[in-house]
Amino acid sequence: MRPNLPVLWSRLWQSKPGLLFCDQMSRILDGKWVRDQIMQDWKPRAAALSRPAGLAVVLVGNDPASEIYVRNKEKACVEMALFSEKITPPSTVTTAELLAIIDGLNRRDDIDGILVQMPLPKHVDSRAVLLAIRPDKDVDGFHPINVGNLVANIPGPRACTPAGVIELLRKYEIPMSGKHAVVIGRSDIVGKPMALLLLHESATVTICHSKTPDLPAECRRADILVAAIGRPAFVTADFIRPGATVIDVGINRLNSAEEQAAIFGDAKPRTVIGDVHPVQVAEIAGAYTPVPGGVGPLTIAMLMVNTITAAEAHQAG
Ligand code: NAP
Repeated sequence: MRPNLPVLWSRLWQSKPGLLFCDQMSRILDGKWVRDQIMQDWKPRAAALSRPAGLAVVLVGNDPASEIYVRNKEKACVEMALFSEKITPPSTVTTAELLAIIDGLNRRDDIDGILVQMPLPKHVDSRAVLLAIRPDKDVDGFHPINVGNLVANIPGPRACTPAGVIELLRKYEIPMSGKHAVVIGRSDIVGKPMALLLLHESATVTICHSKTPDLPAECRRADILVAAIGRPAFVTADFIRPGATVIDVGINRLNSAEEQAAIFGDAKPRTVIGDVHPVQVAEIAGAYTPVPGGVGPLTIAMLMVNTITAAEAHQAG
């Protein structure tokens, strides 16, 4: 069949990054493009505040991966003209000392959001630390009050990664209402809030986990499949309904050439891989997020959104 050139041109003209040129190709959902859109949308709101929104990040010890995440958060604060402060207790810090730090931040008027970078050292009571953060400064959306608000669909900070996924689906105009969404993973930070946010978008939601029988068959029912598992290239072609939208939240490190060769069939160096098989998803999905460059950039953008929203509420009274 000959392509309809005027239609092709009009689709190209209106295109968002990753739009198909041909019906057999998968659409790549560009998280960096969505991240930039979110930042642009929220800059005027940050600028309209009577003082800069303030974010405090508590980084315990010197875990290299956590240091990179925190540096990226600081860069985003600079980009949005937010005030950011990094508190860096040593890895020997006690629970009581961390609680005292949180208490100080809770009381400060120039701090609107508090983020404690996880994981904390094993001897620290992480739950007690998260519970100590004032719910209106909990920009991660992890406090039980905010989890309750999410369940009840009451406004409040939402967990950043799943909230970013919803923004991505919205920006790409991928319908959620009436669609069947399957979320693999039931963690408090990704799987559960992701499922609830999709439910609030009127999707019919199935949550899968390590005890789900016949996982591929469950996943093949999905119009929207979200993988938040933490296992490299776990979701293969037999999990994906042809044409489905596949969101890959996973961030996994590949440690050996053998691991790479088993997944890709070659030894080209790659450092990060998602939970979805990157070659197979491109062959069968209608649209998918790549790793890197898919969901990853959205988490920090939503942290900015949560911090600016908290500052607006604090400055309003
Ligand atoms: P997590 O707390 O370890 O949870 C993993 C979930 O996957 C669990 O619910 C587990 O089920 C399920 N699971 C594990 N093996 C499974 C299997 N064989 N079959 C079915 N389900 C299985 O992980 P997380 O914190 O949610 O993170 C998930 C992934 O997302 C990780 O790769 C993480 O690095 C990444 N992540 C990315 C971002 C980002 O900004 N892009 C943010 C957060 C996390 P059970 O509950 O039954 O054990």
